[in-house]
Amino acid sequence: MAQRIPLDHIRNIGISAHIDSGKTTLTERILFYTGRIHAIHEVRGKDGVGAKMDSMDLEREKGITIQSAATYCVWKGSKEHLGDYNVNIIDTPGHVDFTIEVERALRVLDGAILVLDSGKGVQSQSITVDRQMKRYKVPRIAFVNKMDNPGANYERVADMLKEKLGHHPVRLQVPMGAEDKFVGVIDPISGKAYFFDGEDGEVIREEAVPAEYADKAKEGRQHIYQEVAEVDDQLAEKFLNEEPVTDDELRAAIRRATLALKMTPVMCGSAFRNKGVQLLLDGVIFYLPNPTEVVNEAHDQDKKEEKIVVESDSTKPFVGLAFKLQQDKYGQLTYFRVYQGSVSNGDTIYNTSNEMRKVRVPRMFRMHSDDREEIQTAEAGDIVAFYGVEASSGETFTDGKVNVTLTSMHVPAPVISLAVAPKDRAAEQNFSKALNRFTKEDPTFRVHQDEESQQTIISGMGELHLDIYMERMRREYNCDVIAGKPQVAYRETITQKATIAYTHKKQTGGSGQFARINGYIEPLPSDAVETYEFVDEIVGGSIPKEFIPACDKGFKEAIKKGSLIGFPVVGVRATIDDGLHHAVDSSEQAFKTAALMGFREAYAQAKPTILEPIMKVEVEAPVEFQGSVVGQVNQRRGVIMETKSDETVTIVAEVPLNTMFGYSTDLRSATQGKGNFTMEFARYSPVPKQEQDEMIKTYREKMAKEAAARK
Ligand code: GDP
Repeated sequence: MAQRIPLDHIRNIGISAHIDSGKTTLTERILFYTGRIHAIHEVRGKDGVGAKMDSMDLEREKGITIQSAATYCVWKGSKEHLGDYNVNIIDTPGHVDFTIEVERALRVLDGAILVLDSGKGVQSQSITVDRQMKRYKVPRIAFVNKMDNPGANYERVADMLKEKLGHHPVRLQVPMGAEDKFVGVIDPISGKAYFFDGEDGEVIREEAVPAEYADKAKEGRQHIYQEVAEVDDQLAEKFLNEEPVTDDELRAAIRRATLALKMTPVMCGSAFRNKGVQLLLDGVIFYLPNPTEVVNEAHDQDKKEEKIVVESDSTKPFVGLAFKLQQDKYGQLTYFRVYQGSVSNGDTIYNTSNEMRKVRVPRMFRMHSDDREEIQTAEAGDIVAFYGVEASSGETFTDGKVNVTLTSMHVPAPVISLAVAPKDRAAEQNFSKALNRFTKEDPTFRVHQDEESQQTIISGMGELHLDIYMERMRREYNCDVIAGKPQVAYRETITQKATIAYTHKKQTGGSGQFARINGYIEPLPSDAVETYEFVDEIVGGSIPKEFIPACDKGFKEAIKKGSLIGFPVVGVRATIDDGLHHAVDSSEQAFKTAALMGFREAYAQAKPTILEPIMKVEVEAPVEFQGSVVGQVNQRRGVIMETKSDETVTIVAEVPLNTMFGYSTDLRSATQGKGNFTMEFARYSPVPKQEQDEMIKTYREKMAKEAAARK
């Protein structure tokens, strides 16, 4: 077994970006410079939709696992020999339809590189990933890529980090030239200029700063000193006393402030032109945390979910998180991040998220980009893959001595659904196998059976999200799929409190059915985590204890389908505070029915309303098309939030998902194919009254027709 790299020489990092900023290119360069791959393959020019497919194909064809959950490489430092550092790159997909993968990755990584386009700066998805990183308190380095591109502006992008994301950006480098004159990077700390020679920029040439940049380099160092001193007390003292500072002191202060999330180091380069990537890797080592420097919290299940800290200490009991499932040519892979303790081949581990079900760990691997290394033991801080361990992603495993679960991940609600069926009846078994597996892999991908139509409905975060799964069924499960029209996942909710007072009474021959419940339903606060809450305020046994769960069940049945348009009801708290029962005629069934019917009656009084998913849409097109782009957005009931224009116009708008079908075709024809857009879920919001009335009418007509057909 290879010698273990000490924990402080491990970096678990992610690379996040708005689509097309160069994430894939950068990742490839990193794998190349660290010796994990031996040739550079260019990514083809492409639009947002092609990207994901492209890289999947790329991966398949070349066997490079750019998309693999965790790729491991070793960095020794570009010029100064830093020692062996183990850098695990955790993939964070660029497309927001795969937002859960980003969440999952952020949950297990310790630091990140935020890639920004030197011309476009902070874009809409940069804002989204940044928000996610904030949620998981991930320190990050900003990398301003594409410095060779027309319009490149390092300073402006750094300023945007402050304006748009509220960061405290500190420019750690001075680019030499920009656009087609971009030749290299100055490090004002070491006071050296760096050029990247050789066919692929692999030969780093360190030189004295060219005379024309001498002033800039000096100012650059002063800028760093001053800006870091602003957020680091130790450095501030020196700065105020006007003491000189050593390179090491400066780096240590940057490290402290970055880990404390008080600043964002900003670096630059051009992945495509092979410039600056090695210095960025040095930055990862210098300024991003090792696993022991991150606080990870878990919930103690034996102590009412009390928060505890899991420690990167290999002598403590094992705690690990299954964060991604993957099928590869050898079989079922489950990726784990070990948070505490250690785990070895042959150990039995317990799934604390699933009733302590135990599994033996048969084999364990550390994943490389194109290969895997079998290992015997994994320790706190490691990211490893187990073979043959049954799990769903997001589940916690321990050695059985502790009963903790790691803080769970934020799972957004699906916004779009689609009826699907296998084209060929013979493929039915594969069809259900595939669906079963995808739901285990991806909590934002859901499957259910529509009770009335008996159709299988899949739902997810966007059209592309569902398309990819259908494509995977075809490729991996040999199962062609027929799909219906995509449907928006509407919700229903209530806007005011209403009383429940319902008596269920039936006399059929011998024993009858009797139950009465009293209570009320009311809207949940908008920031509530749950979409339904049940409160039992019965005193004195007016409803006997054994029938209380039946009331909850009845309500749950009722919220499955609201009476407006038959979509799930969210944001309700149902409280019972009184009732009546009968010694002989009351039963669970009777109370369940009373709750169901009582809820429906109250629902009609609670001013119910229909909610629809609103998407944040960012459109980009040459400025001459501004008028038609704006027109199209308006036509789709969009509200324009922001417009920026120079040669290209960028429009950020909030648009109902329902009006976005077919938008890519319309945009293309309105802009001669030059416009593109990205879209992500923003929130649920009430449908305008007039449309609601239409929808309700249509639903009622459909129900009436179905009822007539049954007769
Ligand atoms: P991703 O969508 O963020 O993964 O971006 P890609 O790595 O696929 O890059 C998108 C496009 O930008 C591709 O055509 C790349 O060749 C190009 N690209 C990436 N990095 C650079 C760069 O540093 N300079 C220039 N000029 N183009 C780049």
